[in-house]
Amino acid sequence: MSIIAVSDVSYKYREDAGEAVKNVSFEVEEGEFLAILGANGSGKSTLAKLINALFVPTSGSVTVCGIDTRDESRVWDVRAACGMVFQNPDNQLVATIVEEDVAFGLENLGVAPDEIRRRVTEALDAVGMGEFGKSAPHMLSGGQKQRVAIAGVLAMKPRVIVFDESTAMLDPVGRAEVMNVVRRLNREAGITVLWITHFMDEAAQADRILVIDGGSLKACGAPRDIFRQTALLREAGLDVPEMTALAQALRAGGLCLPDDILTVDEMVVELCRLKSKT
Ligand code: ADP
Ligand code: MG
Repeated sequence: MSIIAVSDVSYKYREDAGEAVKNVSFEVEEGEFLAILGANGSGKSTLAKLINALFVPTSGSVTVCGIDTRDESRVWDVRAACGMVFQNPDNQLVATIVEEDVAFGLENLGVAPDEIRRRVTEALDAVGMGEFGKSAPHMLSGGQKQRVAIAGVLAMKPRVIVFDESTAMLDPVGRAEVMNVVRRLNREAGITVLWITHFMDEAAQADRILVIDGGSLKACGAPRDIFRQTALLREAGLDVPEMTALAQALRAGGLCLPDDILTVDEMVVELCRLKSKT
């Protein structure tokens, strides 16, 4: 069974407003790394909040670990199963010491102190922040803060984590730190990841990509299949990977190249192959 099922979901912020999410359906398998790619205002955060039961659909349904998010008696089970990491690390850290911050959610749940200490240590180690337990969050870099925020979610032992543009405010070093931690949690701990982004290079690392535009799902497939659809990406207000655009321009100019080249290395291999034929 899928860990998340979104079926024909629409959402309106107000009765008289348009739909921020329109007739969206998809499923996520446990252990999957799914990227949700869309331009500003395309409905990504609304969708994230529908999955996390912060919003319930205006029509259609969302189930997380088999729980329908409309079931008010189980909202906390949904949030425990499906954690969320947001964009701004400064809005997510509440305590003055890192380990207290990571413990915050567990204390609210009434978890025993010994168990809290164990889980906090484990979670900080998992994000490579084990040495910073006694540090003050405001002394950390953006990437470190975001890793502490991830540790706070991990301590709750979720099966799914939704990252809503969690690298958008970070410098390239911070982005790489967070991306590496998340990829490891997915591969090694089997945590299902929904990675919301407008960065193509991040989406390229996912197992599968959903493209959303104007609240509707426009495409869904493996990164290579999505990135070769350059017209669709441009229409959705997204960048086309440079090497894919170059390959397509060279094809239009008559060179015999595949249309799904993604990286510089792949381009080099293909151009050398062409040259060796002449
Ligand atoms: P994204 O995360 O992709 O930038 P959002 O889900 O935040 O997109 O927004 C989708 C649409 O819903 C946009 O048109 C936005 O203006 C609208 N919207 C978002 N939040 C609210 C809100 N609190 N009230 C009314 N409209 C909103
Ligand atoms: Mg958003």
